[in-house]
Amino acid sequence: MDRELACEIVKDLLPLYVDGMVSDVTEKSIENHLEHCTECNEIYHNMAFELEMETQPTEVSDVKRFLNKTKKMYLLYGLGILSFIAIFVCIIVDLALNKGLTWSLITGISCLFADAFIYVLSTCRKNKGCIAMTVISIGTFCLLISIQITRYYLMGTGTVWIFRYGLPILLLWLLILWLPVLGRTFLKWNIWDCIALFMLLVIAGNYVTKLITGDYVWDDVLHMRGFIGNALGEVIGFILFTIIGRVKKWRK
Ligand SMILES: [Zn+2]
Repeated sequence: MDRELACEIVKDLLPLYVDGMVSDVTEKSIENHLEHCTECNEIYHNMAFELEMETQPTEVSDVKRFLNKTKKMYLLYGLGILSFIAIFVCIIVDLALNKGLTWSLITGISCLFADAFIYVLSTCRKNKGCIAMTVISIGTFCLLISIQITRYYLMGTGTVWIFRYGLPILLLWLLILWLPVLGRTFLKWNIWDCIALFMLLVIAGNYVTKLITGDYVWDDVLHMRGFIGNALGEVIGFILFTIIGRVKKWRK
């Protein structure tokens, strides 16, 4: 076999050789050839390097994906534990002060909402978001009724606030939570847009809640201090999540 022909045959066999798909005899012949032929040896090394580059990124991205998942899980667990502590503290303080529906309780329940909301949006596939929201809606509805019954009818403290304050506020905040979930489920919005919308709705929700409870003062909203207290955090959140949403879309 002349040298040129041998090179052609080796070059044809190299892809199979790199993949380890050749017989022992062929493998030995190719190895012999590569030892003496610099041209084929160079082609072989390039091929082996390319194969390595092809396989490496998937391994790296698998590891990255796993790390991202565990990071996300830790974040969610952390948020969950924090909000549960907040809710327990709120309930204990409420019971100790022997008041009806206090702002701390509303804040505590809002924490639970936000927590469940983030968890649901980050884990749901298809209509699981709506299913989870239905569970949350029914759960909070029952929680509110049981607080009213326990405090007013069983403990004999506080007033009947469920119709005047409880239900309107609950329905308002459920609507605020449902809208982004519906947008995510049926209009396929990305999660950051949903959170941005949620932030925007929270601003409206804060003002409407104050209207319902009678805490609303027109002067308050028109002044900077009122705005900072009622909406600044949410405005910053809205802008931040909108930007993240745009960047994520742009990077795709
Ligand atoms: Zn050769």
